[in-house]
Amino acid sequence: MSIAKNLEKVKSTIPAHVTLVAVSKTKPLNDLLQAYQSGQRIFGENKIQEMVEKHEALPKDIEWHMIGHVQRNKVKYMASFVSLIHGVDNLKLLKEINNQAKKHDRVINCLLQIKIASEDSKFGMDLNSAETIIKSETFKELKNICIVGVMGMATFTDDKTQIEVEFRSLKSEFDRLTLFKSDNFTPQIISMGMSGDYQLAIACGSTMVRVGSSIFGARNYN
Ligand SMILES: *Cc1c(COP(=O)(O)O)cnc(C)c1O
Repeated sequence: MSIAKNLEKVKSTIPAHVTLVAVSKTKPLNDLLQAYQSGQRIFGENKIQEMVEKHEALPKDIEWHMIGHVQRNKVKYMASFVSLIHGVDNLKLLKEINNQAKKHDRVINCLLQIKIASEDSKFGMDLNSAETIIKSETFKELKNICIVGVMGMATFTDDKTQIEVEFRSLKSEFDRLTLFKSDNFTPQIISMGMSGDYQLAIACGSTMVRVGSSIFGARNYN
């Protein structure tokens, strides 16, 4: 099936309150353009260099989301244009994002990545660290970032019950964190769900899904 058809199909299964991030990592520009021509404007990449190159080559009304693990020394390359960073899991990284955003006189929106999977390989912070960061004075002084929600990845398993438990834990953590709203913590987004599990994620409260292979086809790597 064509990318346009795939996109249409995915969109038809997503309710209006849920934002679709088309995960285009490893895919060539032409694939992204096809999705763009079908109306898609939000793309997710997991490598900063690749996102920078695609940003330079493609129309400027695309919103770029960094969905991968972020190395602090590379934040500067995307600071001028990135619209949402999903994978923020420590205060040092937040400080660097804040510094770089300041240089461009902008506010960069971020999600706190919470570890919900049982595997060791998934990045993310534990539930208490998120709360500690949000309540800290250091965080409150970071005027050039805004935390707009949370992100999580379920365990890579066929066990739907386990995935559901993990998604529900992220939703309840989000609900608890909303009590601590502040100028730079305005929780609205729960980013959870990928090609294999986004419908379950939506049923568990997701408001943003990151869908790659169901739109662009299988990837050879990553
Ligand atoms: C690759 C990736 C996705 C999309 O995965 P698919 O299974 O292809 O939909 C979503 N989120 C993150 C963080 C990813 O790295």
